[in-house]
Amino acid sequence: MTSDANRWDEVGDGVFVRRYEPVDVSVGAIVGPTGVTVIDTRNNPEEGDEILRDVVERFRKPVVAAINTHAHYDHTFGNERFAAHGVGIYGHVLIPRHFEQHEAPRLAAVQADPTREPDKHWAGVHLTPPTILVDAPLTIDPGERMIELLPIEAGHTDTDLAVHVPDAGVWFLGDVLEESGPPMFGSGSFPLEWPAALRSVLGRVGEEDVIVPGHGAPVDRAFGERQAGQLEAVAEFVRRAHASGETADAARVPEELLAVWPEAQLRSALRAGFATL
Ligand SMILES: [Zn+2]
Repeated sequence: MTSDANRWDEVGDGVFVRRYEPVDVSVGAIVGPTGVTVIDTRNNPEEGDEILRDVVERFRKPVVAAINTHAHYDHTFGNERFAAHGVGIYGHVLIPRHFEQHEAPRLAAVQADPTREPDKHWAGVHLTPPTILVDAPLTIDPGERMIELLPIEAGHTDTDLAVHVPDAGVWFLGDVLEESGPPMFGSGSFPLEWPAALRSVLGRVGEEDVIVPGHGAPVDRAFGERQAGQLEAVAEFVRRAHASGETADAARVPEELLAVWPEAQLRSALRAGFATL
């Protein structure tokens, strides 16, 4: 990693983001008077350790909490290193179930045969769910800094948790919205419910607030509204295809959606949507 990539951007007063490869995942650092809360833990224990080192080096304060924005591997597979240091990990109450249904079988398959996904480097991963499960809005103050946790309705997954730092006007929304590419369908997504889930959380976001997506540069509420509109177009397409009796593999995909999403992603949305219709 080059030295200019090696940096934290301050997106609100005392709230920082650093974009890490692989998968350009955004990791947050909420700096309080007595400690730092980390948002998301990356893709394996080594990457989790790198965050812990980088945070202490940059902020010279202990890591006092971690928060998972949702269950997917690129946001949770570093959890075990935080747990090993006695750091409490907050996450949505349904993460353990999502792990069982999606991340655990995929991890086991890759650990048995790493050639299935050679880019993952999961040999040393032990699936570690959050230690503090959140099933309703919750206000916490790790490091003596107030943070609100808000479970989001099912959308990107059914484990999405919004993280709000009220005194800085900053939101971390995980992959409920993305900036560096289109939001991803698959591994437990809810394409029909997603637009309303996103709109509902955006209803709480101020016009001047900063939203940190799971992947890509920080955005504002207007960006989120536009992405909700694109997600609505997908939900509408899935409903229409279902109503006209098409199959997920054969349904003709509209050009305007192909301009935003790769076809495989839209087929994945069709399969997930059909499963609930
Ligand atoms: Zn992600």
